[in-house]
Amino acid sequence: MLLPADPSVTAAPLTILHDVFGYAAFRGAQAEIVEHVGAGGDALVLMPTGGGKSLCYQIPAIARHRAGQGLTIVVSPLIALMHDQVGALEEAGVHAAFLNSSLTSDEAWRIEREMMSGRLVLLYAAPERITTPRFLAQLDQLHERGRLGLFAIDEAHCVSQWGHDFREDYLQLDLLHERYPDVPRIALTATADETTRADIIERLRLASARVFISSFDRPNVRYAVVEKDDPRRQLLRFLQDEHEGESGIVYCQSRKKVEETAAWLNDEGINALPYHAGLEADVRKRHQDRFLREEAIVMVATIAFGMGIDKPDVRFVAHLDLPKNIESYYQETGRGGRDGLPADAWMTYGLADVVNQRRMIDESPADDEFKRRQRAKLDALLTLAEAHDCRRARLLAYFGEASAPCRPDQNACDNCQHPPATWDATEAARKALSCIYRFHQQRGLRFGAGHLIDVLRGKATEKVAQYGHQQLSTFGIGADLADTQWRAVLRQLVALGHLRTEGEYNTLELTPSARAVLRGEVTLLLRQPAEPARRTRKGERGRGRDKAPPLPLDTAGLERFAALKAWRGEVAREHNLPAYVVFHDATLAEMARDAPATLQALAGISGVGEKKLEAYGREILRVLEGAAATDR
Ligand code: ADP
Ligand code: ZN
Repeated sequence: MLLPADPSVTAAPLTILHDVFGYAAFRGAQAEIVEHVGAGGDALVLMPTGGGKSLCYQIPAIARHRAGQGLTIVVSPLIALMHDQVGALEEAGVHAAFLNSSLTSDEAWRIEREMMSGRLVLLYAAPERITTPRFLAQLDQLHERGRLGLFAIDEAHCVSQWGHDFREDYLQLDLLHERYPDVPRIALTATADETTRADIIERLRLASARVFISSFDRPNVRYAVVEKDDPRRQLLRFLQDEHEGESGIVYCQSRKKVEETAAWLNDEGINALPYHAGLEADVRKRHQDRFLREEAIVMVATIAFGMGIDKPDVRFVAHLDLPKNIESYYQETGRGGRDGLPADAWMTYGLADVVNQRRMIDESPADDEFKRRQRAKLDALLTLAEAHDCRRARLLAYFGEASAPCRPDQNACDNCQHPPATWDATEAARKALSCIYRFHQQRGLRFGAGHLIDVLRGKATEKVAQYGHQQLSTFGIGADLADTQWRAVLRQLVALGHLRTEGEYNTLELTPSARAVLRGEVTLLLRQPAEPARRTRKGERGRGRDKAPPLPLDTAGLERFAALKAWRGEVAREHNLPAYVVFHDATLAEMARDAPATLQALAGISGVGEKKLEAYGREILRVLEGAAATDR
């Protein structure tokens, strides 16, 4: 069924990249992938978010369509995002459509006709649609005519039960291979772990596919973990001092906390919206649309929000609660900085997080083996949170990728940027553990962190009097350390598994490994707690980072940038699309900097393809001229 290789097919990719998308060169493995798939090979593509996966199937789709090999079917789990994905292609002059339950039957019927006519280049659909008898019958017809060009399976990790976004319907997709063995398939995911990878290959029958694994480093993402002190205030300071007027996501663990945090941020004058699975579908959709379409919206969400959100200019992902494991942390933080510009992955973290996550595992109905694995995964994340060396290197090491610490020219992690002072907490740890031991010895009782710290610091509270704890030999032996230091010691001891918490009041209890610490056989090196507000003095605002615009611009350039953004906003509203679908910020900034005066010069700007040049070129030149005129 494969048509003989047309030489123009292999020659075309770079031309398509340039003419359709307006980009000068392929990134990383893109060129190889595009060539392999364009020539009819199967591929599994593992690339981090923002790596440029879409072009890996869109360019072969265009090439194959031009070579008369027909339509590309894109399997995507996210009905809500298809509209914008298709809009972006149509803006670039590529005929694309989607079929999903949001369409009226008339609209669906019209698109089916487009699909059968051979005019359509890409069709997006959810797996449950693709595996219906009606749709398969249509694919059969196209296949018979040699007009079924390619299957692209996006978010391919959804096929894995071990993954974080399992979708039952993805399991049926193996029938594509059985039914149309000669049609190439490309599966794509940003999930890095090996189990999921093996699962995808098995379940989608991709054993003979070429696997392309990119580095999972996100060089533009800065990782930072701060000790929880007053988390809301810390978040507010982070938003105000470093991300004023920018879009981002704040993750919380519970629906209640999402609601409360969003409401509180609004009271503080920040444009925040809640998102969680408990909200009505239309509210969720409205909030998602606003996040994608408007600027400077802070989405406060549970993990229900995120997969496939391809908004390129998410400038930060903040965690108010600890994620489950490193995989989740990487996925969630990965939603920042798709456009390659600096983005922050920022997390607050404290003893309660460790306790909560441990308890969630303990109380889950899963079997022991599963719980054991979950605990090991949580421990790996705790080690990352407690680290005083490069977080990027640790993150990549977890995914089996060796890496040097952040380079100075990178958006370096907190530890590389400000190497933290450490102190030897071995003695302190012994004091804390022996105090817990004494509590228990005295009357067989256990207490929580608050009371323990009071006793160590020698505070004469009511509770101390009630239990006669001023009698203990450990009373007041820790007066030299501050409250925050003691909290850090206890958090580490719990994180490292020398202490565990019990019951409703999170009382502290020694574990078998505590003995080695008590004997002084384990050295504990702790990060010196940061001075509160150290990084947030007014004079330091936004220091060291490019705020919007993404390029340094002079005054005239800034005016042009503002004029271009205003123009883009109007076009986006008219077309009912997010602004970034019209042009990315980076493209507008380049226009503002270079102020091209001719269409030819404008065509040289990255992100300006032929169709957009034709549709918008003259208007852009006028906007640029207008900005220059008001400047005089
Ligand atoms: P992913 O799906 O892997 O997260 P996308 O396909 O959304 O990534 O691409 C991320 C961003 O990078 C997009 O804005 C895209 O336009 C841009 N991009 C991708 N490939 C290139 C390239 N070769 N040159 C310039 N920009 C690119
Ligand atoms: Zn680093």
